[in-house]
Amino acid sequence: MRTIGVLTSGGDAPGMNAAIRAVVRMGIHKGLRVMGIQRGYNGLINGEIYDMNRATVSDIIQRGGTILKTARSEEFRTEEGRKKAYNVLKVFGIEGLVVIGGDGSFTGAQKLSQEFGLKTIGIPGTIDNDLAYTDYTIGFDTAQNTVLDAINKLRDTSTSHERVSIVEVMGRRCGDIALYTGLAGGSESIIIPEEDYNFDELCKTIIEGKVRGKLHNLILLAEGVGGAEEMAKKIQDVTGIDTRATVLGHIQRGGSPSAFDRVLASRLGARAVELLCEGKSQRVVGIKDNKIVDIDINEALAMKRESNRELYELAKILSY
Ligand code: ATP
Repeated sequence: MRTIGVLTSGGDAPGMNAAIRAVVRMGIHKGLRVMGIQRGYNGLINGEIYDMNRATVSDIIQRGGTILKTARSEEFRTEEGRKKAYNVLKVFGIEGLVVIGGDGSFTGAQKLSQEFGLKTIGIPGTIDNDLAYTDYTIGFDTAQNTVLDAINKLRDTSTSHERVSIVEVMGRRCGDIALYTGLAGGSESIIIPEEDYNFDELCKTIIEGKVRGKLHNLILLAEGVGGAEEMAKKIQDVTGIDTRATVLGHIQRGGSPSAFDRVLASRLGARAVELLCEGKSQRVVGIKDNKIVDIDINEALAMKRESNRELYELAKILSY
């Protein structure tokens, strides 16, 4: 293997830059030529590719977002689009591809390998923490800290006004952001797609809390369950307690990556390159029990994610 490419795809996540840096610098350390592909699979199809060196990745480890930019590509979902992408890779002499993104991006990489025999390795870069084979994805830790910062501020004002505060965070199918920040932020209730919730019970908890003298009530809601605004109105109608919704939105995707995300991204980026150098392909890297691991991409995509029930139950007990 002489030349490898790296791209970021799907939603961006803090720490993607640290992963790009690790891929480039480990690649150069191994004597490879490393090419940066801009705007995900779209940029690949359009040949938006440039040579990277140690200097092109200097001063980025602390920056959020991705210097390679990211995109979602409809064209790449078609066989024709992927054929174009493969032809571009051939023209640039790229023999191995590192894809930093979520499960959709991994599926794209898997198809490039299966259809054209290209060597691919996936690095989990998404704030959602929704990949079953790895304990953590790059960006999840930073996103948690961003949400916590917002929760801390909301607590001040909702305590002063003795309000109920619903915070809607990202997570369509995976409620990890709500779960972890709900526990860390001392929330009263956590509503996530993996666990059933009962609206009447929720209102009862709010009223009981008020009676016991709780000055505020904080609810963490994963976006996959429903809208915060609508829920706030319903809660206010039933409980008679002033209830406000805050939708954090894309703020959760930004910011300087935490130390944890930088270390994780550096380790995963370096390992991805090592795997390509070992001739491996169709694998994804991750972290299990603080050890860097790699598994077959098909196996990783087929794994069903289980939510952390223990944390959910603990948060319930501690919120009382
Ligand atoms: P996030 O977790 O942030 O949503 P993701 O990688 O899952 O990240 P997607 O939008 O699902 O984000 O996928 C990114 C890109 O990967 C898509 O725009 C598409 O180009 C490619 N992709 C996704 N699924 C497929 C597929 N089944 N076949 C080919 N390409 C795919």
